[in-house]
Amino acid sequence: MSKRLRSSEVCADCSGPDPSWASVNRGTFICDECCSVHRSLGRHISQVRHLKHTPWPPTLLQMVETLYNNGANSIWEHSLLDPASILSGRRKANPQDKVHPNKAEFIRAKYQMLAFVHRLPCRDDDSVTTKDLSKQLHSSVRTGNLETCLRLLSLGAQANFFHPEKGNTPLHVASKAGQILQAELLAVYGADPGTQDSNGKTPVDYARQGGHHELADRLVEIQYELTDRLAFYLCGRKPDHKNGQHFIIPQMADSSLDLSELAKAAKKKLQSLSNHLFEELAMDVYDEVDRRETDAVWLATQNHSTLVTETTVVPFLPVNPEYSSTRNQGRQKLARFNAHEFATLVIDILSDAKRRQQGSPLSSAKDNVELILKTISNQHSTESQDNDQPDYDSVASDEDTDVDTAASRANRQKLLGKDDN
Ligand SMILES: [Zn+2]
Repeated sequence: MSKRLRSSEVCADCSGPDPSWASVNRGTFICDECCSVHRSLGRHISQVRHLKHTPWPPTLLQMVETLYNNGANSIWEHSLLDPASILSGRRKANPQDKVHPNKAEFIRAKYQMLAFVHRLPCRDDDSVTTKDLSKQLHSSVRTGNLETCLRLLSLGAQANFFHPEKGNTPLHVASKAGQILQAELLAVYGADPGTQDSNGKTPVDYARQGGHHELADRLVEIQYELTDRLAFYLCGRKPDHKNGQHFIIPQMADSSLDLSELAKAAKKKLQSLSNHLFEELAMDVYDEVDRRETDAVWLATQNHSTLVTETTVVPFLPVNPEYSSTRNQGRQKLARFNAHEFATLVIDILSDAKRRQQGSPLSSAKDNVELILKTISNQHSTESQDNDQPDYDSVASDEDTDVDTAASRANRQKLLGKDDN
């Protein structure tokens, strides 16, 4: 299935043998220890997936493999390759280094500070630079050279850049040219397959027109990636997009669906969110699903005595400095939801995403996300037997995380996929 020679692979950060994780947005393979640091930095820095135990869309894996094999890691370690830096004593981590502080410090410098990335000469106007880089990206994606595009993206090129003269985005160009791996890379960096060009056509349209059917189907999948992932998390199935089914709304198999006034109130508040706030909440819940699923893979694949310690567990979503503190707090509170509460929230979001997609009218947007999260967790405290709402710190303990994972698994079995389309 894969062309790569696993025996020759080493961790991109510490050169340890047999890396079993990938950082999708960085195009690198990493070992367990380094992965634990990546996870603690958050998905805005590194999107990790296990090479064997996470399901992969085949062309996404191919994209990461191609980047890795073509030396994408040198993008992130550019200045370390300079002999002068070796003389100055700067070096990458070794497999024997301690995770904390050695590997962790190196990984933070490498991906968070971008300390070793090749810098462009300083210019007066940053927006001009970004525009130039984006135009370069726009023309590079028609070729198969993924590393060039990743380098441009790492320097600040915009995946959704709308070229003022050409009247389209890089994803339109890649789709016309049938460059499926470029499309994967652009999508990882946020390119939207539903964007229209100046002729009102989307990348999906151009892929179909050009006879690139695998690419067209994949672009549709990418378009629904968020809701598909949420549905899959609950019921283990995804909608059949090729046959026009775009949503699955799982339902609780038993009568545990919460019909209390509080649950109805939470649903109503969700419906009253502006599209923008709704999208933010859905993205936060997606990140939380990713955290819970990656945690489950992590716990299933680690030697507990050595690697599952306070320093390797990720008990709640790490802070993303680009978000407001209110939003970061809301994101972290998602970890407090037990399996049933979280499933209820996911189902409500799926139902409302479908309603919004189909253009049902919205009520006014007065409420905020914070209030919805509060309403849902109040539901818990008034109804369940154990009324002690754990405070933030106690949720962060290993025990609670374990309980939650087990509950999650049990709950998933209780849920039944039910087609709603
Ligand atoms: Zn490593």
